[in-house]
Amino acid sequence: MTPSRRAVLAAMAGSVLAGCTAPGSETSGGASASGAPPTSAATTTEAPTSAPSATAPAVTRAEIVARYGHAVPHTWGLQAPGTVHALPTTKRVVALTFDACGGPGGSGYDQALIDFLRKREVPATLFLNSRWIDANPAVFRRLAAEPLFEIANHGTRHRPLSVTGRSAYGIPGTRSAGEVYDEIAGNQAKLTRLLGAPPRFFRSGTAYCDDVAARIVTDLGERFAAFSVNGDGGATFTPEQVRSTVASAHGGSIVLCHMNHPRGGTARGIAAAVPHLLATGHSFVRLSDAVH
Ligand SMILES: [Zn+2]
Repeated sequence: MTPSRRAVLAAMAGSVLAGCTAPGSETSGGASASGAPPTSAATTTEAPTSAPSATAPAVTRAEIVARYGHAVPHTWGLQAPGTVHALPTTKRVVALTFDACGGPGGSGYDQALIDFLRKREVPATLFLNSRWIDANPAVFRRLAAEPLFEIANHGTRHRPLSVTGRSAYGIPGTRSAGEVYDEIAGNQAKLTRLLGAPPRFFRSGTAYCDDVAARIVTDLGERFAAFSVNGDGGATFTPEQVRSTVASAHGGSIVLCHMNHPRGGTARGIAAAVPHLLATGHSFVRLSDAVH
C-alpha cells in the first residue's frame, strides 16, 4: 500500500489541552487543561550529521551526562526550542499523529481507528512507547510493515522530558540528563532493532520537555515532534469534540491524537473529520514526508 496524500481540509486549530495522558490511562493520570497551542511554523534545528547507526545511538550516555549534567534548563512546557510544532509548508497539508503511551491502562489498541486509516489510505505517524510495543508485539509487526505508517519514538517509560524531575499532568518527569538519555535511547534502540533503522522523530510522554532535554533529543539523532492541534484531549474527547477539533486544523498542522484508547472518541471523531478535510482540498502526510 502506498502512502497516499489524500486531501484534507483544515480550518482553525482548536485549543490545545493536555498532552497525552487521559484520566486512568496512565499510572498517575489526571489530565488537566493547560497550555496554549503553538501556532508558529516549525522547527529550525537541523538533525545531527551523525545519525545513529542501526545498532547504537550517536552518542553514549556518559557523553550526554558530561555535556549536560550541569546544564540548567530555562524553559518547560510544550514549546521547547528546536522542537517541531508544525509542518514547514503553506499548503493544505496535515500530519495526523497518534500516540500509544503504554503502561497500565495505556496499552490498548484502537483497531477501528487504524482500519479506518487503512481503508481511506490516510498516512499517519505513530508514536509508540516501549511498553506499548511489548504489550502488542503482533500489532506492532504489522504496523511497522505498512508504508502508510511511520513509526516514531514515544519514549521508554513515558516520562515528561526534564533534567530536573519536573512533572506534567501528575506524571513525574525524568530527573537528570542521564535519565533523559535513557528515556530516549531505550526505545530508540528497541525500534532500531525492530525496524532496521532508527526512528526520526521523538515525542515525550505528555509532550512536555525542557530546553536542555530538547538538545539531548537532537544529539541522539531525533527530532522532537510537538503538535499544533490537540485532537483528542488526551483521549478524553467525545467523537464530536474530536471531529470538530481535527476538522478545523489549519494546513501545516501537526495533529496529536491517541491510538491506545479504543473506547474513547478518537476513532469515530477521526472518521468524521477526515472526509471533511479531504473534501476541502487537504492532504495527509507522515512527518518524514514534510519535515526534512
Ligand atoms: Zn503518551
